[in-house]
Amino acid sequence: MPDYEKELILKQERVGQLLSGLVPVVEPIIGADDPYHYRNKVHAALGIERGRIVAGTYEPGTHKIIDGGGNGLENETAVEVINDIVKIATKYHMSIYNEKTGQGFLRRILVRTADATGQMLVVVVVTDHMFPGKKNFVKTLVGKHPEITSIVININKRTDSMILGDKSEVCYGPGFITDELLGKKFTISAESFYQINRKQAEKLYSKAIEYAALSKSNRVLDAYCGTGTIGICMSDHCSSVTGVELNPKAVSDAGHNIRKNNATNVKVIKADATKYMNENAASGMFDVVVLDPPREGTTPEFIKACAKISPSRIVYVSCNPETLARDLKLFAGEGYKAVNACPVDMFSGTEHVETVVLLSKGIDISAGKLRVEISVEDMDLSAAHGNASYNKIKKHVYEKTGLQVSNLNIAQIKRKYGIIERENYNLPKSENSKQPNCTPEKEKAIVAALQYFKMIG
Ligand code: SAH
Repeated sequence: MPDYEKELILKQERVGQLLSGLVPVVEPIIGADDPYHYRNKVHAALGIERGRIVAGTYEPGTHKIIDGGGNGLENETAVEVINDIVKIATKYHMSIYNEKTGQGFLRRILVRTADATGQMLVVVVVTDHMFPGKKNFVKTLVGKHPEITSIVININKRTDSMILGDKSEVCYGPGFITDELLGKKFTISAESFYQINRKQAEKLYSKAIEYAALSKSNRVLDAYCGTGTIGICMSDHCSSVTGVELNPKAVSDAGHNIRKNNATNVKVIKADATKYMNENAASGMFDVVVLDPPREGTTPEFIKACAKISPSRIVYVSCNPETLARDLKLFAGEGYKAVNACPVDMFSGTEHVETVVLLSKGIDISAGKLRVEISVEDMDLSAAHGNASYNKIKKHVYEKTGLQVSNLNIAQIKRKYGIIERENYNLPKSENSKQPNCTPEKEKAIVAALQYFKMIG
């Protein structure tokens, strides 16, 4: 079994186990079409090893730089840019920063890419605002890599582990790049927070939008909103979005993104999410609450105040299933039960897994009926085999016939045509329960899609 397939199964199982008893169903994990080279932010420290300039990440717990290439998860062009900067620095005998002595000039490189637009931002971190040969450096680099649309020099004299210093100077292009998520535009500068894996972020946000089931009259709260990405992506489907975010830089970036998208029904408030909820609990002015807290999860007070606001749906986007499970228990205590959950693999090649959960009031998932089902067979591992994903097949079927087919329908037809090697997997727990068979009409449409994607002859 390819490694990525195993990784997805492990992630699915981990989320399933942690949420067992809290969620009636964990949907099949949404995997990546390409589990490699997804990181759109690549960072390298520079140093000298055996008389040679090297660039890479520090070996954990040491000051030794692991030279070049990265770990296969980074954007490949970004890695090439870093390697070429090393070549330029070598050719021009540039002085390289020494971590131990604090001496030297060229310190780090940060490359950010906007996959949707192809734009690239290079941040060159140095220790002094005097950059000898800067013009030549820029000319040579852009000559080698015309895809670079902006270069920023950042001055960092700090001795701590902060990557960037406080002062920056734009020396080529506008100093930022623009990427797109679900058709909305987002500005990325040297420091701004932005999802590392753009393609998977779109899938994550789409799932959150699906769970939010928005109607045009809905007022949405986007708590822990960062630069406003989720709220802006939801803004066409609802009446208003209020974002809440603590980091002032993220709040000002969110303002920029709102203007860029002309999202006039979105506003972002700089506040602690819990404090904001407490202050607004009495007014009950939100129909849908979305929260996307950091790894520590949210607070018991947030959950209490959220229940007082009494939204009809809560969408919890979590980057840590442990704190998610803890928070779901508290939500259940306030009358909000999880009705659906879906892991999304945002960070292949790492142990991290993101999960989207839909919570709602008054749905009875009493112990007898509650079952967490991990149906490995239904997991969308197609991409790992080089096949079209379930979503692609669904979309194709819908576009050609107007029929909505489920993962289960597709799995049934794939099994019938021998595409799923069932022997490899345990039988899903649901195998003996009644599963509606695919109608002949749907079967015909799915077969046509499988032929279209050349998965069957
Ligand atoms: N939803 C965004 C960002 C999620 S990351 C996205 O998808 O891009 C979590 C965000 O929560 C960060 O931007 C962080 O600054 C913010 N945050 C952390 N603690 C907070 C708090 N107590 N109140 C409000 N926001 C907080």
